[in-house]
Amino acid sequence: EIKCRYMNGVGAVSGGATLATFQDITHVEQASQMRRDFVANVSHELRTPLTALMGFIETLQGPAHDDAAARERFLKIMSDEANRMNRLVGDLLSLNRVESEERVRPKEQLELTGLLQSTLNSLRPLATDAKVDLNLNAPEGPVTLTGDNDQLRQVFTNLIENAIKYGGSGGSVEVRVIPSERDTAMRGPAVRVQVIDKGPGIDAVHLPRLTERFYRADSHRSRQLGGTGLGLAIVKHIINRHRGRLRVESDLGKGATFTVILPR
Ligand code: ADP
Repeated sequence: EIKCRYMNGVGAVSGGATLATFQDITHVEQASQMRRDFVANVSHELRTPLTALMGFIETLQGPAHDDAAARERFLKIMSDEANRMNRLVGDLLSLNRVESEERVRPKEQLELTGLLQSTLNSLRPLATDAKVDLNLNAPEGPVTLTGDNDQLRQVFTNLIENAIKYGGSGGSVEVRVIPSERDTAMRGPAVRVQVIDKGPGIDAVHLPRLTERFYRADSHRSRQLGGTGLGLAIVKHIINRHRGRLRVESDLGKGATFTVILPR
């Protein structure tokens, strides 16, 4: 969509004619606006825990200096805030890496069911803490594809972690693997991985924006759970790199289903 045209050069050419060159800068302007928004968001996200840290340091240096119980409590909060900053910086670096690699096609041969099994195993402690049953429903035999093992693990970790964190109140999270020789969306051999929860779901108004950086459907809950708001943005870039698709469906009050479609 072209919203503005900008004349970026006027020059005289021989014979008295004037040559004007036009360049569509819409995308340039949009990109720099996005960059400004991003910097503003990052600054805000970092400043919030930093302000808390500075406040507690001041209190510990002053009024709470000799209060052992308060010191203990404040140090715990400070450690949580420092962890939040650390997670944010970690996710920013991941996002940066996956964006810069987006155009390089992954080349590894990998087996998806095994990858999912080991991802689920590493998330079991989180699920147990949240009293959530984690189930893998996959066909017998290997499901192979070409991809980036570490990046796909990150995709499924983020989706399953979200399902546990936001949808875990439903008691169970199911991961389903559905390979097919001719997928309707990919028009060829593909595999679908569905992460299904039975939690509160996501209101339809949020669905189109869910993979934007720092977009949160429930801001309060995300912050309370230590979310950075970058998980699904990272997921989107990795899936793009694999020429795949991400679909989100949700029935409010009944849960959410995130489907990753990967070509094989
Ligand atoms: P965050 O760090 O906030 O979890 P994400 O990018 O991973 O960031 O997710 C963006 C938002 O999408 C979350 O803040 C949450 O509101 C919503 N969300 C993601 N997964 C689910 C889910 N399974 N059920 C309900 N809401 C979800």
